[in-house]
Amino acid sequence: MTAHYPTAFDFSGRTALVTGGTRGIGQQIVADLAAQGAAVYFCGTGAERGREVAAALADTPGTVRFIPADVADFDAARRLLEEITREAGRLDFLVSNAGITRDNLLLRMKESDWDEVLAVNLKGSFNLIKHAARTMLKQRFGRIVCISSVIGTMGNAGQANYAAAKAGITGLAKSVARELASRDITCNVVSPGYIQTDMTADLTDQARAAIQAQIPAERLGTPADVAQAVLFLLSPLASYITGQVVQVNGGMLMP
Ligand code: NAD
Repeated sequence: MTAHYPTAFDFSGRTALVTGGTRGIGQQIVADLAAQGAAVYFCGTGAERGREVAAALADTPGTVRFIPADVADFDAARRLLEEITREAGRLDFLVSNAGITRDNLLLRMKESDWDEVLAVNLKGSFNLIKHAARTMLKQRFGRIVCISSVIGTMGNAGQANYAAAKAGITGLAKSVARELASRDITCNVVSPGYIQTDMTADLTDQARAAIQAQIPAERLGTPADVAQAVLFLLSPLASYITGQVVQVNGGMLMP
C-alpha cells in the first residue's frame, strides 16, 4: 500500500473567497491558501490595510486580491460574488470568517450592539453562502467553512449577542450542508477557542491567565492553528465531511 497523505495541499486551479482577511485568523487563511497555489480573493473593513496585505502576498504561488465589501450588506455580498465569478469564472472555496464583538452585560447591552453583531457574524454568513451557492451549484462543487467560536457552545457573560450569532452559524451551516451535499458541496464549521489576534489583544493579564488555566494545552491558540483546520476541510481529504463542527481549542471544550 502506498502512502497517500500529501505533505501539502495543491490548491492550484482553485478559487477562494475569505471574508475578514485583512488581519488575524482570516489573514492567515488567505496567506496559507495562496501558499498552496489558490487564487484568493478576500474582503474586510479597512481598504488600506486590505491592499497592504494583498501586496505583501504578491510573491506567493497563488494570487491574492482584496475587494472591499461589507458582509452585512446583502447587495454588497451579491456584487462581491458577481465580481469574483466574472473575473475567475468559478468559486470553489468560501471561508466565512468576518466577525466582530460588541461586548456588554445583558442589561447594559444596547440594541445596536445586538444588531451589529448579528448582522456581521450571522447574517454576513447567510449573505455570502447564499450568493456563493449559486455558482457552486452550477459547477457542482464547493467547499464552505464558517468560523464560529467556542462561545457559541458555552455562552459567555458579556457576550450574549456574540454567543447567539456564533450558535446560529452552526444551525445555518448544518442546514446548508443538508441542502447542498448531493451536489458535492460541503459546509462545515471551525470553532476556535481563544486565539491570539487583535480581537483578544485587549484582555488583561489577569483575564488571559484565567483563560489559560481552562485550556489543557496551557496556551492560547494561534491563527495558524485555526487555518490548518480550515485548509483540511477545504482539501480533498475532507470530501466526505459535511455539517460538522471542528473544535480548535487546545482541549478547552470537548462538547
Ligand atoms: P479580527 O478582529 O482580528 O479580524 C476580523 C476581520 O473581520 C477583519 O479582517 C475585519 O476587517 C473583518 N470584518 C469585520 N467586520 C466586517 C464586515 N462588516 N464586513 C467584512 N469584513 C469585516 O478577528 P479574528 O480574531 O481574526 O477573528 C476571526 C473570526 O474568528 C471571527 O469570526 C471571530 O469571531 C472568530 N473567532 C475568534 C477568536 C479569537 O480568539 N480571536 C475565537 C473564536 C472565534
